Amino acid sequence: MKSKILVYLSAMVMLAFTEANSQTNMFLSNPEALKVFQGDYNPSHYRPLTVIDQPDSVRMGIIRGVDQSEQIRLLTKLETFHNRNSGSDTLSLSTGIGACRTWILSCFDQVSKNSNNRLVTGYLEFDADICSKGHHKNPFALLPGMDTSNHEILVIEGHFDTRNEGRCDTVGYTPGIDDNGSGTVLVMELARVMSKYSFRHTILFTTPTGEDEGLFGAKAWAEFLSSKGVKIRTVLNNDIVGGIYCGKTSSPPSCPYCGHVDSTHVRVFSYSSGNNPYANSAHKQLARYMKYVQEELINPHISAPLIINIMLGEDRTGRGGDHTPFRQKGYTAVRIISANEHGNGTGKAPDRNHTTMDVLGKDINADGILDSLFVNPGYLARNTILNGVVAGLLASAPEKISSTMEVKSDGVVVHLPEGYVNADRIIIGVRKQNSNSLEFDTIFKVNRADKFLVRLSIGQKNYISIAPLREGAPGLFSDEYEIILSDIDPEKTHRQP
Ligand SMILES: [Zn+2]
Repeated sequence: MKSKILVYLSAMVMLAFTEANSQTNMFLSNPEALKVFQGDYNPSHYRPLTVIDQPDSVRMGIIRGVDQSEQIRLLTKLETFHNRNSGSDTLSLSTGIGACRTWILSCFDQVSKNSNNRLVTGYLEFDADICSKGHHKNPFALLPGMDTSNHEILVIEGHFDTRNEGRCDTVGYTPGIDDNGSGTVLVMELARVMSKYSFRHTILFTTPTGEDEGLFGAKAWAEFLSSKGVKIRTVLNNDIVGGIYCGKTSSPPSCPYCGHVDSTHVRVFSYSSGNNPYANSAHKQLARYMKYVQEELINPHISAPLIINIMLGEDRTGRGGDHTPFRQKGYTAVRIISANEHGNGTGKAPDRNHTTMDVLGKDINADGILDSLFVNPGYLARNTILNGVVAGLLASAPEKISSTMEVKSDGVVVHLPEGYVNADRIIIGVRKQNSNSLEFDTIFKVNRADKFLVRLSIGQKNYISIAPLREGAPGLFSDEYEIILSDIDPEKTHRQP
């Protein structure tokens, strides 16, 4: 009993220690990056030889450009670093987190060279005590936007560190292929594919460190960017995005039974505030936007469709991820994760998550070639396309619209701001509370007009939001208006939650 109390106390002390001594001494290894983050640069310095910026062309370019074999090549290389724990070796040139981050940065540099030096690359460095190492680095590549009048950036991230059964096992074999080599190569591949195109807004591609030891790298980013006044439109956090097999211990809400296979769904987790989880949050609105984009603008163009499950919570029960530090700083952020997860992170065999078994696949006949891949290349590629298209469209789309809604007896009249011309068309999303659905029940488009009527049925609670559509690029949906139509006093039945 006594020893149990001691263990508990030391865990509490450790928690307090890591909280009190979180990220300090944060800086960018490349000073040019801060100017890009703050919009203080000349866009012509980052122009490609051939400008492709029309949203439809960019979207189709991303859909066709993501290369499965390139992602598998990157994953094969990631496996060779042996252990990517944040406390692992930083001196070796071939193994440990030091060699791995050097390699990721060199890949970003190579991509930049191949695209007329358009990327600004480097590390966000910071001090924190993680598994006995004090100094850490998040590799990144920035693709500067072509329009500096609005400085909102887009973030695509996936942590590159790994953990084994032991939180601070810094030497044992820890391949970390699904968790989170998959998210790492998703980010790396999008830096390659998207650097061929031009966007209005700046896009940050980054692979934070220290996720599995306490979200350290993402906390450093969120703190650093908010301290510099950097505005972020959205954060897409990718963590475990390649596996399709359900493990024995997968954290709920997850897959149905051990061995179940699902390569057609992906989960998007996001925070929503208040007692009513179905109510409005910018994060949930981003998840709904992603579902809309996937179904309307991606699925018709790929051979196997991907279906987004909008999840109720911010993450799986009792689990967390790198989107949360951004959300805590007021940024709009979601986590993207496979429908089926191979384990609950406690490193219990036969599940692979956080064990030596989180490898790329199995060589059944020992001929040196993997016969069965644990990361499904097509599934990973489709999750990569989802990220690229969503971030790409948002990087060219207009800002959210702040409209007013006037309740009538048969619906609401939406009034756009006076003189509004930022969109060609307006997308309207309607959710009916009675269906308890997290998704829009109805989405439709109207031509831009100063005001337009949305018809609703009486007696039902409706949530309505609108999004701008300009030159094929839809913007984010506004906050939702809660509207109940009744013939008693329509003036008092609508509010913006
Ligand atoms: Zn992870």
